[in-house]
Amino acid sequence: MKVIDHINQSSGTLISFEILPPLKGKGIQSLYNHLDPLMEFKPSFINVTYHRSEHVFKKKSDGTFEKVVVRKRPGTESICASIMNKYNVDTVPHLICGGFGINETEDALINLNYLGIDNVLVLRGDAAKNESGFEPEPGGHQYAIDLLKQVRNLNAGIYLEEDLKNTSQTKFCIGVAGYPEKHFEAPNMESDLKYLKAKVDAGADYIVTQMFFDNAKYFAFVNACREIGITVPIIPGLKPVYTRKQLTVLPKTFHIDLPTSLSDEMARCKTDLDVEKVGTEWMLQQSKELKKAGVPVLHYYTLGRPHIVANVVKELV
Ligand code: FAD
Repeated sequence: MKVIDHINQSSGTLISFEILPPLKGKGIQSLYNHLDPLMEFKPSFINVTYHRSEHVFKKKSDGTFEKVVVRKRPGTESICASIMNKYNVDTVPHLICGGFGINETEDALINLNYLGIDNVLVLRGDAAKNESGFEPEPGGHQYAIDLLKQVRNLNAGIYLEEDLKNTSQTKFCIGVAGYPEKHFEAPNMESDLKYLKAKVDAGADYIVTQMFFDNAKYFAFVNACREIGITVPIIPGLKPVYTRKQLTVLPKTFHIDLPTSLSDEMARCKTDLDVEKVGTEWMLQQSKELKKAGVPVLHYYTLGRPHIVANVVKELV
């Protein structure tokens, strides 16, 4: 079932989770162990992130370095199918522009369609680790909106081979990313919102936000979106904090702020376990306020800490 149908058919706030594929070498059971404690909360859908290949330098026995391509977390599409099969829950594979030519994208979408997956979250992806800025594959997509248009074409039965006749149409529900604190490359919020609106006008069914720790920023973002005519549901993304290191890693990696009261509390913590307690309480208060405000879905980035998310969601239902 499509994410947008889940939202439209619900009278209250839904729950969804986001997970990473296991590291290469770990079996699918590690992922089930992660999800098992969360399934009692009956998520409406589960997102699975996509991780592109990276170039790394491996030291050889003669002391020189060899450049090799590694993909640490493969399997997004098949993991989605496995989760649907095991738990009978809808899944949302993330699909990115980076590393994909348009033919590979089409093949990936055809595979997802064959697997019975009705949803995709379309993203640009970040620059590869060896690049200073995002570079598309030759002939690949530059922006998420270009990828979105390819999905929309397939939904209309338009394939890359124009002479295909009587084609089957896919029926993907399309989600896109939004940034309450602005995407880090956008020169200003107005510009970022303009391109977000373009994604919605091009056919995005809903928006999922980057994580944020200050609900006021989410509410201001939703207001700004509504003011420029974005009417689709805007799903807040929430992530727990659980280590002192995150005080600096989260702003650096995700270009978001931690509110002073949260960062002060984290800085006062003696151990990571103390930070986890602070982070759990913070996420619970965020969730309660967002739920009270009637958000369509609470989307939790579980990222290796399902018990924290479970402890929060338990208090909400
Ligand atoms: P876009 O919408 O293409 O925007 C990128 C930048 O370009 C923005 O600054 C925008 O303002 C600007 N822009 C957009 N269109 C135009 C245009 N036509 N002309 C000029 N400028 C334009 N990354 C992964 O690799 N895998 C994942 O699974 C993944 N999941 C994510 C899930 C969520 C909910 C979020 C919020 C992010 C996720 N990301 C993931 C990260 C994402 O790929 C990066 O944030 C990326 O840098 C931007 O992706 P986007 O889809 O927002 O890009």
